[in-house]
Amino acid sequence: MPAIRPLPDTLISQIAAGEVVERPASVLKELVENSLDADATDIGVTLIDGGIKQIRVIDNGAGVERDDLPMAFARHATSKIASLEDLESVRSLGFRGEALASIASVARVLMSSRTAGAGRAFTMGAGGSDVAAVQPAAHPIGTTVEVNDLYYNTPARRKFLKSEATEFAHCEEAFTRAALSRPDVTFSLRHNGRVVTRLAPSGLERRVEAVLGPEFAQVMRAIDANSGSLKLSGFVGSPSYTRASRDAQFIFVNGRFVRDKLLAHALREAYRDVLHGERHPAYVLFLDIDAHGVDVNVHPSKIEIRFRDPRAVHQFVFHAVVKGLAGSAAQTQAPSVTPLASGPSARLSGTQAALGIAQPAPSYASMFSGRRGHLESAAGETPSQNVAEEAPLGFAIAQLHGVYILAQNRQGLVLVDMHAAHERILYERLKTALDSRALNTQKLLIPSTFHADRLDVATVEEHSATLNLLGFDVAAISPFALAVRAVPAMLADADPAELARALLRDVREFGASRVLTERRDELLGTMACHGAVRANRALSIPEMNALLREMEETERSGQCNHGRPTWYQMSLADLDKLFMRGR
Ligand code: ADP
Ligand code: MG
Repeated sequence: MPAIRPLPDTLISQIAAGEVVERPASVLKELVENSLDADATDIGVTLIDGGIKQIRVIDNGAGVERDDLPMAFARHATSKIASLEDLESVRSLGFRGEALASIASVARVLMSSRTAGAGRAFTMGAGGSDVAAVQPAAHPIGTTVEVNDLYYNTPARRKFLKSEATEFAHCEEAFTRAALSRPDVTFSLRHNGRVVTRLAPSGLERRVEAVLGPEFAQVMRAIDANSGSLKLSGFVGSPSYTRASRDAQFIFVNGRFVRDKLLAHALREAYRDVLHGERHPAYVLFLDIDAHGVDVNVHPSKIEIRFRDPRAVHQFVFHAVVKGLAGSAAQTQAPSVTPLASGPSARLSGTQAALGIAQPAPSYASMFSGRRGHLESAAGETPSQNVAEEAPLGFAIAQLHGVYILAQNRQGLVLVDMHAAHERILYERLKTALDSRALNTQKLLIPSTFHADRLDVATVEEHSATLNLLGFDVAAISPFALAVRAVPAMLADADPAELARALLRDVREFGASRVLTERRDELLGTMACHGAVRANRALSIPEMNALLREMEETERSGQCNHGRPTWYQMSLADLDKLFMRGR
């Protein structure tokens, strides 16, 4: 065994960089956070080649003194906190003092800055283990940090970078988060010499409209709630505005964009009764909480947090959003619960779908095209004749409120949640088909086109093999539009655009390989949900019976993909008890 030795400083920073500097977008995030911490009111971001070649952030903030420039690059050196007490009440975005050191250990960095009190500007370069001397320079009050050739000295990491388009899309996302977090600040974004976005300072409402689009702005509802030291403000989409993915969900805690399970759960719950199927709400919310009530030092990227009193936060956010949504529900009826004309010809365009307009209900019988035999044999029979014949789930008598199937079997009454049951069946079938590489594809007569962001387009271009394996044929038809040309045959009645969006979201969030391995079941679950019959679809008795027979043949059909039961038996004895009827 070699002796134990301390690691060289540069290597320590490179190791730390693994957590802080995952890709160009994380560099962008750290630099913009520094500009905001320096009270900048105007922040310009310039990228070359998706940020891989260069990321430059210029701000008009407080600047760095000449003698502090070398300290800015030193590991664990910060101007933002000095004690544990400061850490526990931290309000700045940065505080760990390691971003610039980490970035400089894996890229060539140039920092130029001038403070209001200084007669001139200074610049300093750092890259790998080299640090250049501080030089006089020309620069207005404020700071420019330029990061060139990310991972030039760590080729193994460089290999993990994706295409320019993908890296740019991630950068754009990081930019969007920052821009939403501070509507009072001017933001601009350029890529390869072209202006992508310019956002003038405004109120939150205008900024949200500029970033998320007028469709959302037209239906969003203001949230403004207080309870003790907790405050929630911002905008939530009315239930009529939903999206196929979670790409328009922004929560900021004390001004910091966070990904937090607890908050996401509170939001999901709040929307639960007003959203149907696998649609996702859109929101931009700001939670303000006493700094002592939240720990932001959970991960170097500072995107995760921990609440001291999670239950109180959950309750507060949940109720505030429910209240906000109740206010809107009166005005905007959720159209997704209104059945429209059925049949493929009634399919809505991608734009309409993106706006959350109801999808036409598919022809249900066609979903069971492989099961005609059952369908027809069940059709001519009345339930009572068949009770004696052992059909474990019995025979349908009626449909209740467009949600439940009532069936009669030998024991008594069977209640079936039709969407959950169908979803389960599709899920198991998808799994079997994928395992045996026998996932049949159905070509669409008319490709379904939809508006997509760059990241989706990039994902399609990079992962077409994975998409094919999953039964999809999706192609880019412009930098902002995709066309779905084929879908898994089993899901032929789902909205193809919605289905593709959901798939792309998973691929881009988790990567193609994880989607096919550890995330596979979740993905199939999402796909099944899209393909499953929607609430409020009137089913005929034969259709209901066909579903019951499918359930009997499907493994684990007793539980939906979310672990909830898909059916429930009430025996005659149970019913008798209910009516205090002594038999
Ligand atoms: P942290 O933000 O956690 O303090 P960083 O490594 O990101 O750590 O930055 C180190 C220090 O450099 C900051 O504490 C700050 O004093 C200074 N600094 C970095 N960027 C800027 C900027 N754009 N304007 C003014 N000061 C900056
Ligand atoms: Mg920082």
